[in-house]
Amino acid sequence: MPNGRHENNSNGRIFFRPTILETGRHDSFRQTLEGEYVFRIDRGDKPPFDTYNEATKELQGIIQACIRDGKSLRAHGSLWSLSTVAVTNGRLIDNTALRLAFEVPHALTDSGYAGDAAKLRFVECGNSVAALNEYLFASGLSIKGCGSNNGQTVAGAVSTGTHGGAYNFGAMQEMVVGLHLITGPNKHVYLERKSYPVMQPDFAQSIGADFIQDDTLFNAALVSLGSFGIIHGIMIETRALFILNAVRFRHPYDATLKAAIAACDPTLIPLPAVANAVPRDKPYHFEIFFNPNEGTPPAEAIVLVMYESAYDPDNYTPPEWNAGEPGLGASGLDIMGALVGKIPSPLNKLALPLLNSQVEAEFSPYFKKAIIRDLFRGEKTLGKTLGCGVGMPVSRAIEAMEIAFRIYKDANVVLPLILSHRFVKGTRALLGFTRFDTTAVLEMDAVSTPETRAFYNKVWEALDAAGIPFTLHWGKYNTFLTPDRVRNWYGDTAVDHWLASRETLLESAAVRKIFNNDFTVNAGLTN
Ligand SMILES: Cc1cc2nc3c(=O)[nH]c(=O)nc-3n(C[C@H](O)[C@H](O)[C@H](O)COP(=O)(O)OP(=O)(O)OC[C@H]3O[C@@H](n4cnc5c(N)ncnc54)[C@H](O)[C@@H]3O)c2cc1C
Repeated sequence: MPNGRHENNSNGRIFFRPTILETGRHDSFRQTLEGEYVFRIDRGDKPPFDTYNEATKELQGIIQACIRDGKSLRAHGSLWSLSTVAVTNGRLIDNTALRLAFEVPHALTDSGYAGDAAKLRFVECGNSVAALNEYLFASGLSIKGCGSNNGQTVAGAVSTGTHGGAYNFGAMQEMVVGLHLITGPNKHVYLERKSYPVMQPDFAQSIGADFIQDDTLFNAALVSLGSFGIIHGIMIETRALFILNAVRFRHPYDATLKAAIAACDPTLIPLPAVANAVPRDKPYHFEIFFNPNEGTPPAEAIVLVMYESAYDPDNYTPPEWNAGEPGLGASGLDIMGALVGKIPSPLNKLALPLLNSQVEAEFSPYFKKAIIRDLFRGEKTLGKTLGCGVGMPVSRAIEAMEIAFRIYKDANVVLPLILSHRFVKGTRALLGFTRFDTTAVLEMDAVSTPETRAFYNKVWEALDAAGIPFTLHWGKYNTFLTPDRVRNWYGDTAVDHWLASRETLLESAAVRKIFNNDFTVNAGLTN
């Protein structure tokens, strides 16, 4: 253990793994560090609730040790973030073995709870989206929305505001209605919104936490970039399993498509004949991809829309999927990942036909019926890919995309690059980057090269110059962040409330200090 002094008792689950370098899943950064605390897998020797409560104590012990040793600390999830939000030069916590999940006794819910108590679940932070999907499936339940893949942890995904294209639902944090935060060696809290009571104080008591109902504190802690201590448990609302009729097809980049984008209304786009019978009364997902190497702008876009229908367990067969390939919900980043190693580097115009045929093959049209678990999965690439998500009001989406096209054309280079739009309902999280009522997320996904990084920078600068209000995904490439920009984007009130909430919730200045990292310093989000 660090300094040979950590109070790791023989019954405990944690051990310390000295590690001197962390690079993230996609080798998108280099972070030197002292090492990480790792939880052993729970062998099920004790009742799950006891195991959960013991893990709380161990997490508090880790905080204590880091204060004592003057080391910064940060919990990480699957380390899928392409920014340095999840790392620090001190110690990390690998929480991926913290995978308990609980049904919530109806008797412990607040009598005023507006939702369905039977669909509440309390899940430990290290559950991956994939594990959560499997767990819920067994009860005929589903998460309400997720990103394009399923490898992130629930806590990690929520902490950066991970979103998909569920434009009537929002980003993943929208399903969260309670947070168990370890906020110091002697303090931990169970937090929910006052305006949306879910649990009785007895529930907080059963996990030994202070019970707090407060909208501002909750909205601050929801997207907290690892800075609000350690999220141990997350109370989520789920829904009954449902089918998504997913249709991917090519459509001219024309007035019809532009009208659908401007109105954020996928129903304006006619479906291909193969999907004519799809019910269109419940649109769910809306996403549009552009390959700028087919023309800037290209004559055609690749459209992915999904419409809901009822799930019938007796007649459901998951679509076939080769686990070595990107899943059906694959984003531009997965497609770029699939191309790493297949396309020549450096690229030149001679390689364009090959590049375009690869993109075309990866984005081939399909019509599939599947539940969330089987659509959004499967990221296998470990190559140097880089993605950036730019959130903006939907009313500026077309203008922004045209700016990106123009910059690409003017650069006169060939980049392995996919540009896309996903549309997401706005969030109440104070620093959720999908903060616009309907947020259009301009995604720029690429193989990571100096040229692609330069392209991202030029687009950010040009969006700024055009006066387009925007934010950047915290967990993707976002080196444009500065304290001034963060304040400009989110407003002083939101930033000040976020900082003040941190001060209220964390036990002491010493605890706040250890949960700062270079990323939050550079974004002006430390106190
Ligand atoms: C292939 C790929 C596809 C992606 N697709 C999407 C997508 O479709 N949509 C989208 O929005 N994003 C997407 N992303 C970005 C990704 O979803 C986010 O970066 C997400 O935060 C990563 O989750 P993680 O579990 O890996 O967390 P990490 O990257 O390890 O950590 C993220 C943040 O969570 C914090 N954290 C983790 N666990 C805890 C805890 N227990 N307590 C406190 N803080 C904690 C960390 O400190 C850090 O600040 C994608 C990334 C990749 C690599």
